[in-house]
Amino acid sequence: MQSKFIFVTGGVLSSLGKGLTAASIGAILESKGLKVMMLKLDPYINVDPGTMNPYQHGEVYVTDDGAEADLDLGHYERFTSAKTSQDCNTTTGRIYQSVIRKERRGEYLGRTVQVIPHITDEIKASVARVADQADVVIAEIGGTVGDIEGQPFYEAIRQFRTDVGRENVLYLHVTLVPFIWTADELKTKPTQHSVKALREIGITPDVLVCRCDRDLPDSIKAKIALFCDVAREDVVAAADASCIYEVPVNLHAQGVDDRICNKLNIWGRRADLSRWQEVVNRYNNAEVEATIGVVGKYVHLVEAYKSLNEALVHGGLAHRCKLDLRYVDSEGLEKPGGTDCLADVDGVLVPGGFGERGIEGKIAAARYARENGVPFLGICLGLQMAVIEYARAKCGLDGAHSTEFDQDTSHPVIDLMDHQRKIVDKGATMRLGAYPCVLKEGSLAGRTYGQAEISERHRHRFEVNNAYRERMEEAGLVFSGTSPDGQLCEMVELPGHPWFLASQFHPEFKSRPLEPHPMFRDFVGASIAHRARRAGGKD
Ligand code: GLN
Repeated sequence: MQSKFIFVTGGVLSSLGKGLTAASIGAILESKGLKVMMLKLDPYINVDPGTMNPYQHGEVYVTDDGAEADLDLGHYERFTSAKTSQDCNTTTGRIYQSVIRKERRGEYLGRTVQVIPHITDEIKASVARVADQADVVIAEIGGTVGDIEGQPFYEAIRQFRTDVGRENVLYLHVTLVPFIWTADELKTKPTQHSVKALREIGITPDVLVCRCDRDLPDSIKAKIALFCDVAREDVVAAADASCIYEVPVNLHAQGVDDRICNKLNIWGRRADLSRWQEVVNRYNNAEVEATIGVVGKYVHLVEAYKSLNEALVHGGLAHRCKLDLRYVDSEGLEKPGGTDCLADVDGVLVPGGFGERGIEGKIAAARYARENGVPFLGICLGLQMAVIEYARAKCGLDGAHSTEFDQDTSHPVIDLMDHQRKIVDKGATMRLGAYPCVLKEGSLAGRTYGQAEISERHRHRFEVNNAYRERMEEAGLVFSGTSPDGQLCEMVELPGHPWFLASQFHPEFKSRPLEPHPMFRDFVGASIAHRARRAGGKD
């Protein structure tokens, strides 16, 4: 079958949920038995989204093959079974880098190298590259129509339709229909303007997904259809949903998949969204509650912990549990009595992170959880903090630290590996992407996963220092997950504690609403049990 292409663009303003819309369309099409592939074309100039500040861009998502990608790839993997990779996130920087390299190699035979056709060809090639892996490729263009940086991308997707045939390409535009309180009215003008901007560059949208805080009455849909030159049935409302996993259900209820399939001439079985409906039902009808303290640095911006947040929600879904996620600034835990704010949490999570600020607070959080029998989940930096805490408190290693934060520490329990030191000088320093890990039989880690070998994704420089492993093991810390050769410590745990588990990898990247990740599932389960114990203790 000839691959079909859906280009998702956005208008009016950012944060409309374009990525969620693209992912939801992917979920619906997958439920029709189609194989989907998803990619994001980001018009910003950074070559590598991984170096971007989480405050500006939210979390860096990591793929199996070690791409440090835009967080929308996380939505794609949570909503579909598409495996994203380096090929799935292209930026202007990467496109130009590739064109300039070709120019340097003389591949353009001395011709003038221009935005059209050379940059646009490179953009089109990045879309076509993934096509043989799928029936339908869904490509989202970052930013908003009208952005200067976006222009070559819109031009490229415009050309793409002519290249592969009109019946094989569909343009879906996500726009905003605001409710203006003073006028007591929904306004269609922003949508009209953004479609006008799109048509000026030669793209007429086939489907409009209108974000709004309520359902759109038929009269509004009809008005948008008239002004924007689309059929009334192709104007779809995306009203605010109770949870993001409701979006595929709501879009399907309006027949969007039938419209898309008709236009693209795709035959598939009927969409079946019952599993998504079940997720929504579970989310809205929780039977228990638990409070999780997330002790981190980027606490004022949930986007910075997007996958983590979602993985916790998935863990909650597994138990029909509503989670109260309390983001705690770790710096606040550094003063005496700082951990008092954790007194009423049912589980403590120390997520990944970089930079020194609040480090001692994270160590204090690990200590609090260990000493008080509170379920603890440490991720990446969280594992490193738990190991430092244990080394200081239980192994007599005063001043133990990570050389990331104290180069001259007397006990570098977290350190670079010898071979890394040489790489550091060259700048390429991270362990990125999927690595295998073997689990100790009978350990909490082994029981949690229910298998002996796993593969999880990494994004870090520092490792547990093997020179201290024996000493820490003698003091009771169990290294329950290691690389197959035993050289890299991947998981630690504390026998005798109700639930204390930490990983050097990031499990949150592989959790899905339809398949909650075992570590999050069991961490939430342990937190629910802790809450019950606490309640029992009070009686
Ligand atoms: N900063 C730590 C390291 O580089 C941890 C990184 C992380 O948590 N992702 O090893």
